[in-house]
Amino acid sequence: MMHPEVTLRIRERFPGAAIFEREPASRWTTFRIGGPADALYIPRDENELAFALDAARSSRVPVTIIGNGSNLLVRDGGIRGLTIRVAGHPSRHDGQTALAGLTIDGGRIIAGAGASLSAAARLAADAGLTGMEPIGGIPGTVGGAALMNAGAYGGEISLVATAVYALARDDTPGDPSDRPEPIVFKGNGLAFRYRGSAMMDCGAVITRVEFTLKPDDPALIAERAADYARRRKSKQPLSEASAGSFFKRPPGQFAGALIESAGLKGFAVGGAMVSPMHAGFIINKGGATARDVLALKDEIIRRVFDHSGITLEPEVRVIGDDPS
Ligand SMILES: Cc1cc2nc3c(=O)[nH]c(=O)nc-3n(C[C@H](O)[C@H](O)[C@H](O)COP(=O)(O)OP(=O)(O)OC[C@H]3O[C@@H](n4cnc5c(N)ncnc54)[C@H](O)[C@@H]3O)c2cc1C
Repeated sequence: MMHPEVTLRIRERFPGAAIFEREPASRWTTFRIGGPADALYIPRDENELAFALDAARSSRVPVTIIGNGSNLLVRDGGIRGLTIRVAGHPSRHDGQTALAGLTIDGGRIIAGAGASLSAAARLAADAGLTGMEPIGGIPGTVGGAALMNAGAYGGEISLVATAVYALARDDTPGDPSDRPEPIVFKGNGLAFRYRGSAMMDCGAVITRVEFTLKPDDPALIAERAADYARRRKSKQPLSEASAGSFFKRPPGQFAGALIESAGLKGFAVGGAMVSPMHAGFIINKGGATARDVLALKDEIIRRVFDHSGITLEPEVRVIGDDPS
C-alpha cells in the first residue's frame, strides 16, 4: 500500500510536484494495458528524484522506476507503492527538464535519463556525430535504453554509451536525511550484454548517460537515419499498441521467424494478438488485459517449443500485481 506520508512529503518539499494518484498503466505504457499505479510521480530534476527515493526508503514504501513504458507489461492489479517516471515533465511546454536535458561537448553528448533516445540521436545527427543512427528509432528514454542495452540494426547502446550516472537504490530503512548515493558506471563496469547491463543487475536509478560519438558528414548521417526509419516502418506494426518485440532473440535465430513458422501470425487470446505484420510483436487490438497477453505469451512459448525445440524468453519486463 502507498503511505500517503510519502506523497505528502514530496508535495510539501516541491509545491506543484507532478503526482498522479491511482493512475492507470494504460495511460503510461505503449501497450496501453495494466492496472493503476498507487501514485505516479514525475520528478523535474535529479534533486526531486533523490528526495523521492529517500522519502520512500525511509517510509518503507516500494519504488518502481519507469521511463517511457515502451518495454513494460503491467499486470491488471497495478503497482503498489511509488512509481517514479523518469521522463519529460508534463508541466513544461517542451517536456524538457534537467532529467530530460541534452548537452553536447565536442564528440560527447550528455543526455538526461528522461530524454528520448530519438531526441539524443537527432541532436547527434544535427551536430555531425555518427553512431546513433541505428538506435534512434527505438521509442524509449535514454535511461530505459541504457538499462536494457537496447539495440537495433547492428547498433546497440553498448557501442556508444561510455558512462552512466545513477543513484544507488537502497531499500533498507535508514536516516531520512541520507541521500541515495551517486554512482558512475564506466568501461567494463557497465557490464553491457544482450538486453542487460550492470545497472539492471543492481537496480540503479539512471540519471544521465554520456555518449561518445565520431564526426561524420551530417547529410550521410541523415540519410542512414532515414533508411533505418523506413525499414522500421515497413516491417513493424507501429500504429498498434505494443511493447515492441515481445521475446529476446534466441542465439542464431529470430523470435519472429520462429513464431511465424509455428503458424501463429494473427493468433489471439482476448484482445492480445500476434501481429500479422511482424510475428515477434504482441499487439493490443483494444481492451487487452495483461492476463490476455500473458496467456498468449505462454501459448506462443509452448507452440514454438513443440515446433522447433527452442524456448523463447520474454524481453518485455512484466511488473505489478495480479488483481486481488
Ligand atoms: C514499437 C516499438 C519498437 C521497439 N523497438 C525496439 C528495438 O528496436 N530495440 C530494442 O532494444 N527495443 C525496442 N523496443 C522496446 C523499448 O523501446 C526499449 O526497451 C526501450 O529502451 C525501453 O525504454 P523505456 O524508457 O520505454 O523504458 P521502460 O519500458 O519504461 O522500462 C524498461 C526497463 O527500464 C527500467 N528503467 C527505465 N528508466 C530507468 C531509469 N532512468 N533508471 C533505471 N531503470 C530504468 C524500468 O524499470 C524497466 O525495467 C521497442 C518498443 C516498441 C513499442
